Amino acid sequence: MSREFLPNAGPGTITCEPSARPDSIDAEAVVVFMAEGGVGMGSAAEVDAATGGLLGRLASAGELSGRRYECVPLLAAPGLRAGQLVVVGIGKREDVTAGVLYRAAATASRHLAARPRSRVAFLADGAWTTKQVEQAVAGAAVGMVGQDLYRAEPKRTRFGTTIWVSAPVEAVERGAVIADGVNLARRLVNMAPDDIYPQSFADECATIAGRTGLDIEIWDEDRLVRERCNAILAVGRGSSRPPRLVLLRYRGGGRAGQGRAAIDASPPLAFVGKGVTFDSGGLSLKPSEGMLTMKCDMSGAAAVLSAAATIASLKLPIDLVVGIGLVENMTGPAAYKLGDVITARNGTTIEVHNTDAEGRIVLADVLDVIRGEKPRRIVDLATLTGACVVALGQDVAGLFTNDQPCCDAVAAAAREVGEQVWQLPMYPDYDEQIKSEVADIKNVGDGRWGGAITAAKFLERFVGGTPWTHVDIAGPAFSEKSRPWTDGGATGSMVRPLVELARAGG
Ligand SMILES: [Zn+2]
Repeated sequence: MSREFLPNAGPGTITCEPSARPDSIDAEAVVVFMAEGGVGMGSAAEVDAATGGLLGRLASAGELSGRRYECVPLLAAPGLRAGQLVVVGIGKREDVTAGVLYRAAATASRHLAARPRSRVAFLADGAWTTKQVEQAVAGAAVGMVGQDLYRAEPKRTRFGTTIWVSAPVEAVERGAVIADGVNLARRLVNMAPDDIYPQSFADECATIAGRTGLDIEIWDEDRLVRERCNAILAVGRGSSRPPRLVLLRYRGGGRAGQGRAAIDASPPLAFVGKGVTFDSGGLSLKPSEGMLTMKCDMSGAAAVLSAAATIASLKLPIDLVVGIGLVENMTGPAAYKLGDVITARNGTTIEVHNTDAEGRIVLADVLDVIRGEKPRRIVDLATLTGACVVALGQDVAGLFTNDQPCCDAVAAAAREVGEQVWQLPMYPDYDEQIKSEVADIKNVGDGRWGGAITAAKFLERFVGGTPWTHVDIAGPAFSEKSRPWTDGGATGSMVRPLVELARAGG
């Protein structure tokens, strides 16, 4: 199962064993989840019994706390066939969520994946909900993948086979598909910018669309000219690699059978992604330190593609349209300049005050194209502003909206899977800051204050009243440091929340 749409997936089979006693499991390593406050009940208690009370003794001795993401490998535990028992902490029993289990499973998996393993077993707990099982399965499959795409000796190796014990097979299958989505987004973002540029990203979209049954349209330069996408074209002009716009469509609305005809005819949910495959800043050139990680400036595009592929693979009963704007922001001889005035596709004129505020210019046209699809709601994802990272830190995405129910739905979906988001205000006063003397608007606010919000205010000009939520993922999309549950690099942020959002009906 799984490995349906992720290219170069390697081994990594995920299977189920409906029930097995811990002592009889045939694997190199067995992972068990333990809450704070001792062995308790469930799978940790079963392992404790099978090992003659080992976990209880270690807990009493203070060697095992069950605190969140504590990862204790025990070699040659008595009574087990497996050579290694890994005990991973999940914190207080009453606070365990799907998001905690995702991270805990990823922590154990990341630890074990430091060397090749043929078989690793994870013990689910009978008390978990199916969503908790799904997210644990997903976490385990994400944790074993690193960012070492180009290393001769990888730091992480996928397990040959992952066995989920006492877990419902459908939940395990869904978790594996969700992991494929997260890992796809991570791979695309972790790729070198000389390998992933507008055309090669569009090619990846076509491959993924072919594997998952998404409809795809790729707009080349001629089409972008015919469609008056002057904003995308302007940003792309400084690069030898021309821009692209990708549209993906998924029609699952009729799948739920009779009685859903109304949904079939209802407007689709829309996702929009910023795909600046490399951001030098353009003529407003970034300093070297700020530029190093700018391969990650297409994380929004990677997330919406990956979420769409996951939604299609899960055959969710919803209609979805996705717009992805792909450009490389460079300094070539034709590069767009400060003081240029661009007429965006919807007719709004934009005065360019900073060529490094390019993401919003690209999104201006993509949002207008998507608005033409008459969606019910638009959710856009973009690594848009450093200001959002200043405001919220590196682990929290900013939410901005013109429609509170739309924003609440995105926030609820994120909460459901343990990703952190926080809403910022959209007071009309901020609109004053993007007014231009020579054009309708300018592409930065007055000075640096409130930069994440003025960026959102800019985007709002292009959604034409459609209920819309902008998600600024400049912080969480890319992590320079490793965490217990993930290697540094791309995180796959917001893929799981978008899938949850589609699941909740959008
Ligand atoms: Zn930029």
